[in-house]
Amino acid sequence: MKKIIITGGAGFIGSHVVRRFVKNYPQYSIINLDKLTYAGNLANLKDIENEPNYKFVKGDIVDIAFINELFETEKPDAVIHLAAESHVDRSIANPAEFVMTNVVGTVNLLTAARETWKGNYDKTRFYHVSTDEVYGSLGEDGMFTEETAYDPHSPYSASKAGSDHFVRAYHDTYGIDTVISNCSNNYGSYHFPEKLIPLAINNIKNSKPVPVYGKGENIRDWLWVEDHARAIDVIFHNAKPGTTYNVGGHNEWKNIDLIKLLCSIMDKKLGREPGTSAKLITFVTDRAGHDLRYAIDATKLKNELGWVPGITFEEGLEKTVDWYLENEGWLNDITSGHYQQYYADQYNNR
Ligand code: NAD
Repeated sequence: MKKIIITGGAGFIGSHVVRRFVKNYPQYSIINLDKLTYAGNLANLKDIENEPNYKFVKGDIVDIAFINELFETEKPDAVIHLAAESHVDRSIANPAEFVMTNVVGTVNLLTAARETWKGNYDKTRFYHVSTDEVYGSLGEDGMFTEETAYDPHSPYSASKAGSDHFVRAYHDTYGIDTVISNCSNNYGSYHFPEKLIPLAINNIKNSKPVPVYGKGENIRDWLWVEDHARAIDVIFHNAKPGTTYNVGGHNEWKNIDLIKLLCSIMDKKLGREPGTSAKLITFVTDRAGHDLRYAIDATKLKNELGWVPGITFEEGLEKTVDWYLENEGWLNDITSGHYQQYYADQYNNR
């Protein structure tokens, strides 16, 4: 039986990856390693928590003694690494935490994996999940390819770039079987409502102002999270050691256009007059160092491994809105307590 440690499995994307692997590969033993920060939530995995091939371990990837002991005890065959501090705004407020989790935590996992596998990398794999933000910002034209030079601008993207470099260094220096994928913005169920789409859905639902940075001119490529989880599955099982794949939806949207689309879907779902939700859009002072445009070229993944997105943005957005409206309890639990304070610090007086 193959034993896989999935880090960050209680987070947004991680929970979709854990669910997919637990359900689709009963022959694998899946260990979800997560610190349960504000972004980690075991309620994301309620439906699979009793599966015989699933186990949760609470722990911090920054704690090297704990990580070494876990690897010594469990002797995993593979790691799929998603644990990270993931929110750009929080990285601007507290960059050091991002260096610790994203860089030091990744190096700790690589070190423990190397120690466990002791030079025998046959049938092992260290898969690092990363972001397109490491490539920096684009003008009106062009797309990020796997050959684009790194040019991160935020503390978040700088820390993810650092972790990517360490993963490649462990492959090139020690021969570890590593794979990296760099993905565009994800959306879908179980997304913490500090990020644009779930925050907007929550605010529209509650008839609260919907904050949009600057004039909403920033452009992002959006991918449905379950398509990302499927891409991770395909890459994990088929990529050659030491390779990198870009993952994206070929689906660029200006923030303001995306929010307007979301407003019209919400009007329909909530039985409001067309145009009602759009009145909630409120422009706020732009994020410092806000990258203008990200666009990802995922041709390599399509040509070599046959992966393409499964659904359109409109379909995915509608599914996402339905999920948030049907899972009020999940949303209410999250948006009580600390979230209120974070929200006040981030958006009030902006
Ligand atoms: P998330 O913030 O929703 O989840 C992160 C998870 O990591 C949480 O469960 C948290 O508890 C856990 N974690 C944080 N610090 C930890 C630590 N020190 N030790 C152990 N666990 C810790 O993030 P996400 O949006 O699901 O992103 C997952 C990964 O995918 C990240 O590496 C991120 O950089 C990458 N990524 C995200 C996106 C996106 O759009 N969200 C796009 C591309 C890549």
